Amino acid sequence: MTHPPANLPNVQRRGLMLVLSSPSGAGKSTIARAVLERDPDIAMSVSATTRSPRPGEVDGKDYHFVSVATFQQMVGAGQFLEHAKVFDNYYGTPKQPVEDALASGRDVLFDIDWQGTQQLGQNARDDLVTVFILPPSLAELERRLHTRAQDSAEVVAKRMAKAGDEMSHWFEYEYIVLNAEVDRSIARVQSILDSERLKRNRQVGMAAFVNALRGQ
Ligand code: 5GP
Repeated sequence: MTHPPANLPNVQRRGLMLVLSSPSGAGKSTIARAVLERDPDIAMSVSATTRSPRPGEVDGKDYHFVSVATFQQMVGAGQFLEHAKVFDNYYGTPKQPVEDALASGRDVLFDIDWQGTQQLGQNARDDLVTVFILPPSLAELERRLHTRAQDSAEVVAKRMAKAGDEMSHWFEYEYIVLNAEVDRSIARVQSILDSERLKRNRQVGMAAFVNALRGQ
């Protein structure tokens, strides 16, 4: 019987930015959570927002909950990689933690909307990988928004009204995952991540490794 070598070489890799976008209620947060739990090499980008915390949300973990004044200060100080207004609130991605993670070869997962994705793309980052999650139907989207039961009926109605708008941006993304069955969608996002990691241009330490293999 053959065994894999005990000490597999750890070839240095550049971190990538995995963006997940969807209309709210399409299941993006569930998928993101599962990927993060299963994969120690990817970290969540924790956004700043002026929205109030929902029940159960933890400051510093789900979001950095800040005032409008603080948010504007952060914008002025150039602390965001991207920022946008979504449903009457401001949201932004703090720059420094992302830069630190990428530099150390860790991947970063972003749960941001199409406006933020466009802004990240404008910097022509070749470490960007974009995925759009679609719900199987509008009825299912509404059902998920209601069963989440964290938002008022008014907020749910507002989010439903915006869903069509948000979905019109699906075409700007590289990968499309139709979330009919959540386990399957999680596996699909994980396989996107795995494939993107294997791209030659991301495996920056590979040349040195191959040269060593060849005895050079
Ligand atoms: P929620 O209020 O449901 O947590 O998020 C509302 C929307 O804002 C979601 O579509 C989410 O992806 C988006 N969002 C969350 N954080 C950010 C961010 O930092 N930047 C941008 N552009 N969108 C964000």
